[in-house]
Amino acid sequence: MQEKKTDLVVLGGGPGGYSAAFRAADLGRKVTIIEKSSVLGGVCLNVGCIPSKTLLHLAEVIEEAEKLAPLGVSFGKPTFDLEKIRAHRDSVIHTLTSGLDSLYKARKIERIVGVGTFLSDTELMVVTDKEELKLTFEDLIIAVGSRSVQIPGIPYEDERIWDSTKALELTHIPKRLAIIGGGIIGLEVATMYHALGSKITIVEMMDSLIPPADRDLKQPLLKKLKKQYEAIYTSTKVEKVEAKKESLTLHLKGDNAPETIEADAVLVAVGRKANSDGIALENTTIKTNGRGWIEVDKKLRTNVSHVFAIGDVVGDPMLAHKSSHQGKVAAEVASGQASAFTPMGIPSVAYTSPEVAWVGLTETEAKEKGIAFKKGSFPWTANGRALSAVATDGVSKALYDEKTGRLLGAGICGKNAGELISEAVVALEMGAVSEDIALSIHPHPTLSETFAIAAELAEGTATDTLNR
Ligand code: NAD
Repeated sequence: MQEKKTDLVVLGGGPGGYSAAFRAADLGRKVTIIEKSSVLGGVCLNVGCIPSKTLLHLAEVIEEAEKLAPLGVSFGKPTFDLEKIRAHRDSVIHTLTSGLDSLYKARKIERIVGVGTFLSDTELMVVTDKEELKLTFEDLIIAVGSRSVQIPGIPYEDERIWDSTKALELTHIPKRLAIIGGGIIGLEVATMYHALGSKITIVEMMDSLIPPADRDLKQPLLKKLKKQYEAIYTSTKVEKVEAKKESLTLHLKGDNAPETIEADAVLVAVGRKANSDGIALENTTIKTNGRGWIEVDKKLRTNVSHVFAIGDVVGDPMLAHKSSHQGKVAAEVASGQASAFTPMGIPSVAYTSPEVAWVGLTETEAKEKGIAFKKGSFPWTANGRALSAVATDGVSKALYDEKTGRLLGAGICGKNAGELISEAVVALEMGAVSEDIALSIHPHPTLSETFAIAAELAEGTATDTLNR
């Protein structure tokens, strides 16, 4: 085995890993990044966020076109050339991965395509196509991500059983798509395939879809999905899936669910599991918790002070934007800077139609924790821009500390909510009070005004609606 001394090693080349590598290189470290895939970008860029948003854009345009028919503008029924759609998806991915290639080369980062596993707290074995390497490192950042959780009773070997990666391959459009798990992945895939013509059934274990989001926030989405989809079974478990030649039979257990349903494809989207079990942590003294999440402090240090961990492998929320921010912090701390990961909130976005986005404290959490708040909530039915864009399925709400007026959390459901939530993120980080937001002049007519009016409602100064 060839042996080599390295300075800072990043294990994993997803959004967390490459951000960590780039930042560390910019701070003068000699960086080696190890990624098993021949492309950087990880799940998010190659088989997750980016391909899904590319396909969701098609779904949005199809729906927008349909909405115009009653207004007097009609297009023909859409037809799908899956080969062209896949080629477009791949070209988007290729543009981004080749961008990453030029960025790592310009930073003179050493890149190894191979699988890294720990030999000790200071050594890593890397197996590539050609050789086995033993690397000794000064600092190391673990950014190995997560994978889909598998539940028992599912014949995973059947090609009609999908995980999110398989769903995004878009090999064909199943007539009936059953989705196990009504979380973000489940609903985004449902949105895509519904637009392409599949009949969608969702089976969710909890009593509501997207369980972490407040009920009043997600209501405009839930109301719409109820009309669009074949069935939504909440408080329901899938006991097993039987693979028959002509279809897949799902055996359900739930108060309001039938015993069985039939489907032509089944997506399993019941959460993700940290990839901490594939890197031989047993050869180190690095600690994980009961869920396999690597334990880190605010500086993203593990209990071994020169080893850091970031992103999905340190646990929820498993989101690319959390990973990339953590990657930068870990690189900075490893390079001697006084940095820490202490966000006021990490936004969540479901890119459904309408989108649902939230940040900071939810109303449910505020009530559970006994935090006194004043709330402003503005339905989009009263917003001029939403009416013009046929996008009144929406609501903007925000919670403010009852005494200080400081923003505690916010949620937006509606068209482009994933973009609009950034205003709340900045306000939260800046410690804004409701008055700050209400007195900031928002352009008219825009969807962003709804967030300002929600602040006015909390202040009692709204004129676009009645203050209650
Ligand atoms: P999730 O946790 O968002 O949702 C999983 C859902 O499955 C939950 O509602 C859960 O109650 C349900 N569930 C669990 N076990 C079940 C069972 N046996 N039967 C029926 N339902 C069951 O997880 P996900 O949708 O798989 O997404 C995985 C991760 O990826 C999440 O952390 C998510 O935030 C992230 N992600 C984010 C985005 C985005 O930011 N837009 C997109 C995709 C994925």
